[in-house]
Amino acid sequence: MVGISVTNLVKHWGGFKAVDDVSFQTERAEFVALLGPSGCGKSTTLRLIAGLDSVTSGSIAIADRDVTGLAPAKRNLSMVFQSYALFPHLNVADNILFGLSVRGVSKAQQQERLKRIVDLLGLGHLLDRRPSQMSGGQQQRVALGRALISETPVCLLDEPLSNLDAKLRAGMRSEIRALQKRLGITMLYVTHDQTEAMSMADRVILLNKGHVEHAGPPAELYEKPASVFVAQFIGTPPMNILDMATGANGSVIAGGSRPLTHAAAGGLCFGIRPEHLRVVDKGEPATVLSSEYFGADTILACRIGSQALQMRVTGRPGLPEGTVVELGWDPDAMHFFDKSSGLRRE
Ligand code: ATP
Repeated sequence: MVGISVTNLVKHWGGFKAVDDVSFQTERAEFVALLGPSGCGKSTTLRLIAGLDSVTSGSIAIADRDVTGLAPAKRNLSMVFQSYALFPHLNVADNILFGLSVRGVSKAQQQERLKRIVDLLGLGHLLDRRPSQMSGGQQQRVALGRALISETPVCLLDEPLSNLDAKLRAGMRSEIRALQKRLGITMLYVTHDQTEAMSMADRVILLNKGHVEHAGPPAELYEKPASVFVAQFIGTPPMNILDMATGANGSVIAGGSRPLTHAAAGGLCFGIRPEHLRVVDKGEPATVLSSEYFGADTILACRIGSQALQMRVTGRPGLPEGTVVELGWDPDAMHFFDKSSGLRRE
């Protein structure tokens, strides 16, 4: 069964195409992250699915039912916002129950569901508090509780953790993921944070300028990025993308000498992740420009010819500026992209 199905979705804001022919489906009980840089159309897509804005064209189905023209309340979904959107004058219990009372769920059923949700979210001791008397993390739990108590099969979340500090955010990520699994609901989760998307989602939909750049499991985006954009958006530091040249025996990194392929460079560029480079006895000579030490590892900025690249090495390598190192890599770690379109080439 399908959770959310979006087909050829388009949204214009005046003359600007914020969502440009987006199509995707989520399975039932799947956790899908809608990821991309600021302004790529994530929130707009989510708001179209929620019915908070109307589509320019395209269709939306929730749990196999077409909801494109329906009002938000008729779509059978819940939503969690970045701002929490709690009522300041209501306590925790009433904030969580708000949606149910307007939907006409009986008092007895409301109390039963409330107990289950506050137990799930660990909010039992805070029921009488108002939002202003709680921490950001507690308020976000209340916002989640209000969405989850509606027991809709689909829950949309728009950057729900971005107001929390890094430590709390990490804890809430696993909490939300565990809740989603336990309740068996579909979650579509908007974030600009690739770590969040990669660590939480069954599948990631990466948007760029209003279109889907790559949709797939996190490992696929990392290991087989569909384009230079994906390769550089996923992973920190991003994948090195280097110009190629045709040498005597095939292609090389422009400014370098180690053969990459037996074929001519042919309008391709070469991609290699910083963590897939290593220092070897005989490889591609590179000059160390600077280093940044992070404790467990060090990021070295290097140069091959006039091309800059980064390399991640374990620990503190003691390679001062100006050192010439020989770089090696596994053939499996090499990526090639079309230089003009940016698309992956096998
Ligand atoms: P962010 O991570 O910064 O929230 P986003 O990927 O969620 O970004 P959207 O909020 O969907 O991006 O916005 C996509 C584009 O549409 C942006 O250029 C934005 O300025 C524009 N936009 C969004 N809402 C409106 C609106 N109500 N009226 C006009 N333009 C809008």
